[in-house]
Amino acid sequence: MNIKSAEFVKGIVGTDDTLENDIPQIVFIGRSNVGKSSVINSLTKKKGLAITSNTPGRTQQINLYYINRLFYLLDMPGYGYAKVPKKLKEKIVKLIDWYFFKSDYEQKVIVVIIDAKVGPTEDDLHMLRSLAKHNKNVVIVANKIDKIKSSLYEGRISELKNQFSKYLLIPYSAIKEIGVGELIGVITKR
Ligand code: GDP
Repeated sequence: MNIKSAEFVKGIVGTDDTLENDIPQIVFIGRSNVGKSSVINSLTKKKGLAITSNTPGRTQQINLYYINRLFYLLDMPGYGYAKVPKKLKEKIVKLIDWYFFKSDYEQKVIVVIIDAKVGPTEDDLHMLRSLAKHNKNVVIVANKIDKIKSSLYEGRISELKNQFSKYLLIPYSAIKEIGVGELIGVITKR
């Protein structure tokens, strides 16, 4: 399946009932700067669809898109950014916590993006543990594989696959468009 249309529905900033319907929810989350916007854009790029979640003002909310008039794509705010003021950080943590753990929403799949070269940070591990505790369906995208030296590539990927053996882990490069087909397959699977 191709991604043919992406409509921006709204920015969710707190308790919200827009999602109270049967439309499947596919969620993208990762720490700031991991390349979340780039990954999302790589999925729609070929069709020239713009999902511009890094637009000022849109980084602190859940950006809700309606894809192919078939499913929702939720672009969560980035977590773990050191330079973000404490008050704002708390607001973001609260929003993520409400959506995943306090609301009754079910996610068809949650795509957690990590940096393949840097590896998972403490914030990533914390997020993955919380999602696992709530039995969420998680897929890990290991982005920026183009930054790994080719001589180290195989070793690095098997290390990550061993560390996250209970998850599907997709080696990915948003810039080189590697892994795009596999990820589209995962999110559009019926
Ligand atoms: P976000 O804050 O998670 O939405 O991250 P962005 O998508 O804005 O990307 C953060 C930085 O990482 C930008 O400078 C991107 O160009 C870079 N980036 C994103 N994906 C890749 C990738 O696959 N490879 C490389 N080398 N850089 C990437």
